[in-house]
Amino acid sequence: MSAQTMRAGAFLTINLEAIVSNWRLLSKLAKPAECAAVVKADAYGLGAPEVAAALQEAGCKTFFVAHLDEGLVLRKAIGFRSRVFVLNGTPPGAEAEFLRSVLIPVVNTAGELAAWRSHACEAGRSMPVALHLDTGMARLGLSSGDVAMLAGDPSLLEGLSVELIMSHLACADEPAHRANQQQRREFAKLRSVFAKKARSSLANSSGIFLGQGFHGDLVRPGAALYGINPVPGAPNPMRQVVRLSARVLQLRDVPTGTRVGYGHTFCADRRMRLATLSIGYADGWPRTATTSVFFGGTRLPFAGRVSMDSIVVDATDCADLPGEGSFVDLLCPEQTVDDVASDAGTIGYEILTRLGQRFSREYQTHSMLRRSPTRSNST
Ligand SMILES: *Cc1c(COP(=O)(O)O)cnc(C)c1O
Repeated sequence: MSAQTMRAGAFLTINLEAIVSNWRLLSKLAKPAECAAVVKADAYGLGAPEVAAALQEAGCKTFFVAHLDEGLVLRKAIGFRSRVFVLNGTPPGAEAEFLRSVLIPVVNTAGELAAWRSHACEAGRSMPVALHLDTGMARLGLSSGDVAMLAGDPSLLEGLSVELIMSHLACADEPAHRANQQQRREFAKLRSVFAKKARSSLANSSGIFLGQGFHGDLVRPGAALYGINPVPGAPNPMRQVVRLSARVLQLRDVPTGTRVGYGHTFCADRRMRLATLSIGYADGWPRTATTSVFFGGTRLPFAGRVSMDSIVVDATDCADLPGEGSFVDLLCPEQTVDDVASDAGTIGYEILTRLGQRFSREYQTHSMLRRSPTRSNST
């Protein structure tokens, strides 16, 4: 543990080797399709520069982010060897910046397509683009009407090199949902309008597990890379990636009947030893997740409400807790991101992306611990 971690209130350990091993498993399942990596939202909160660099080194050649700025951060971190697609497309006037940084926009609307094309005409060069087709989620993408228009007038794609035809599944985490097959059929139908050489992509993490019919030429996993279960209800095939640990600020022995925390919602029903931890909802821990922490294999249940900067737990049955200044785990093999999500009434995606920037972070590669140079905590 580094000196900085020692004095941190809480720290997040991110196992890059586990992320790489998850990517390898998904690649194997998707073969012969290519396996890309979705690193939007700072790689679901875990650090896009570090995650993408590790995956590129392992052989990943295609990345997805949501915003132009995320693309710029990625280019700084991984150079220009890999393709980077920007899911939320081009904000007006940003075309030149996309070209300069070799970022490929995922075009969602007919207007955006026209703007990108007129920029290509002005620039006098062919510009790469990905087309997102809506096949039944009604969130983003060209409608079947837009696609019919493109089919009727090929000049609408003049000057553009269509690199990818993609769509997104609404219900991939429910394998039996009929929307999956409906979307697959609709995608095949719309896709046939475009040149064969444009590659196709339909599957997110869960979509990969729906079978080969959903793989197309390229799959786009995000969540599963970071250890979230892509097949809810079945055993998680992915490796766990994060450990979250918080420091014990204070230990206190209290008599039966002691009330604890805001609103006095917890009352000690015996003599108790309480431990106050240096983590709270301002760190991104959901206030609604009142679970447990772990020390070694011992479970220490939450006592009362989550505060902004602290959480009190019942340490009575943990005789071997070394005392103030020691660290206990909130995310660990005994309590996964998915466990906390289900307790808080949300999904693992939200837990990960909310984990704030207040933590000290350590990146684990093989047996080595490496601190990120780009993220230092001055508090
Ligand atoms: C976020 C996103 C993904 C990744 O989804 P996961 O469920 O995290 O694997 C793939 N495609 C699109 C269009 C997305 O927005």
